[in-house]
Amino acid sequence: MKWILISIITTVVLAASAALFWLDSQFEEPDARWVHSLAGEMGAASVLAIFAHPDDEQLVTGLLIRANENGGAITRIITSTKGEAGTPLPQISRIEDMGIIRYAEVLKNGYALGVAEQLVWDYPDGGLTDENFDEYVGRLQGQMVTWRPDLIVTFWPDSGFSNHSDHKTAGRAATEAVRRLRETAPDNAPKAIAYILAPRRMMRRFGGETGRVVADNQPAPTHEMPGEGWAKIRGWDIHASQRGYVQKNYGMPPAVVHRLYNKEHYYVLDF
Ligand SMILES: [Zn+2]
Repeated sequence: MKWILISIITTVVLAASAALFWLDSQFEEPDARWVHSLAGEMGAASVLAIFAHPDDEQLVTGLLIRANENGGAITRIITSTKGEAGTPLPQISRIEDMGIIRYAEVLKNGYALGVAEQLVWDYPDGGLTDENFDEYVGRLQGQMVTWRPDLIVTFWPDSGFSNHSDHKTAGRAATEAVRRLRETAPDNAPKAIAYILAPRRMMRRFGGETGRVVADNQPAPTHEMPGEGWAKIRGWDIHASQRGYVQKNYGMPPAVVHRLYNKEHYYVLDF
């Protein structure tokens, strides 16, 4: 009887380990080149992350932390909207105050990540569109002239990590701002753009139709680095109005997801 019990327990443990190993592998991109710090690898002294919403910076915590802790680079974030149209998960404020709450949340998370300066702009959440595109590009360009970043971090314009139109527009505008700056003032222009990519196997298998669209419209990542999952877990506590986001989208809490999804994958465009 004792031996039957032991063999059942052993089988269950082995099956659970195999399942966990398989799940972990769904977040991997085996062909990307492993680096300790992307900013360090690129020799960047100044990094600027350009995103759409408060909490988008959660995708690049590893790059930001390792840029300023290990590589000695200064890091900055532009968040283009206040995220006022986001779904409260859970509701922790009046709905009309969502933009103010999320504005504060991204500032708090940026501070926790060691980010030196942050701007949160006032484009409408869900409204980064073609209508204001040129003005948006010009504003990004102006900020690049002021801050002189060597490395820009943003969304891949064709997939936006989650196929969100604001994400795609932010990526497209950041790319266009760099392109214009390289034409008009090449000495002051960024030297590279790092696009944060979603793990393709995971997206194809578990991301539904959106996941397939994202995976199909992304390039293969050129680099991967540690994602500092602990900082993402902490970040979801800081983003209190979005704390339930990971559970809702992945069916598991951040403490589990970010122990499996513990790397960041980038496609680097190096000029
Ligand atoms: Zn977003």
